[in-house]
Amino acid sequence: MVFRITFLGTGGGRHTAMYQTRSTGGMLVEHSGGKFLHVDPGPGALTQMKRIHYDLAKTDSAMVSHAHPDHYSDAECVIEGMTHGGWKKKGHFYGSPTVIDGEGPLGPCVSKYHIGIVGGVTVLSPGMTLDIDGLRTIVCRTDHSDPTNVGFKFLSDEGIVSYVSDTSYSKEIAEQYIGSRVLILPVTTPDSLRIPYHLCTEDAVSFIDVVRPELAVFIHLGIVMIKRGPEKQAYGAEKKTGVKTIAVKDLDILDIGKVISVSAAETYDDEWIPDSSP
Ligand SMILES: [Zn+2]
Ligand SMILES: [Zn+2]
Repeated sequence: MVFRITFLGTGGGRHTAMYQTRSTGGMLVEHSGGKFLHVDPGPGALTQMKRIHYDLAKTDSAMVSHAHPDHYSDAECVIEGMTHGGWKKKGHFYGSPTVIDGEGPLGPCVSKYHIGIVGGVTVLSPGMTLDIDGLRTIVCRTDHSDPTNVGFKFLSDEGIVSYVSDTSYSKEIAEQYIGSRVLILPVTTPDSLRIPYHLCTEDAVSFIDVVRPELAVFIHLGIVMIKRGPEKQAYGAEKKTGVKTIAVKDLDILDIGKVISVSAAETYDDEWIPDSSP
């Protein structure tokens, strides 16, 4: 059973998000024989789904790791899609406490109306084990400026696929992901250009060295990272760790089966109206 991730966006951080230099639409995960999970639908998610003719009425669950706009801004429309325009109470929404209820200056990121139209809601906290439409998922800690932010270990039939979400590096944070076959890392800045609560390439090298996955994937690329060349940065990390490391592009598809492959999604530029539309 294939585990497929379509990267609706590979950008991250406020400048990439506000200029849409790269999309910040998060990841569409196909799992458990045709279930769809949307992770972190930031700016660009809707536009990118239209470009690949993905009808978001097919989405079974959506999750938002934390209350920063590059991770949540399209979430309400994704919920409307998942619920067929709000007409059908279905789907499950997962979010950190800031996303669902708000805390201090952060969030909530979706309205009470949108929380009310989904089939179920789960407030995430580290240590939880979720059953996302058949996909067992472990919720992990981060060290981020939204202190409720969480990462995820998806325990797929094809091995553990992890999405770390925004965090600073520490050995303890990285150790949570030991055993991962694929490690998806938000590497916001290049080289040793460290900004608080995020990973730079040098941190990614330390992170990968602790986890030792089969494949490491750079996403959440900030504007300076994009200028400096994410592919070169990933290759530099690979040379230092000996672990295969790539930087993906918008609308790349990662297929995780016996082998792991990357391909580009087919795109369309038409005025598309899905069959499920009124
Ligand atoms: Zn971010
Ligand atoms: Zn963040």
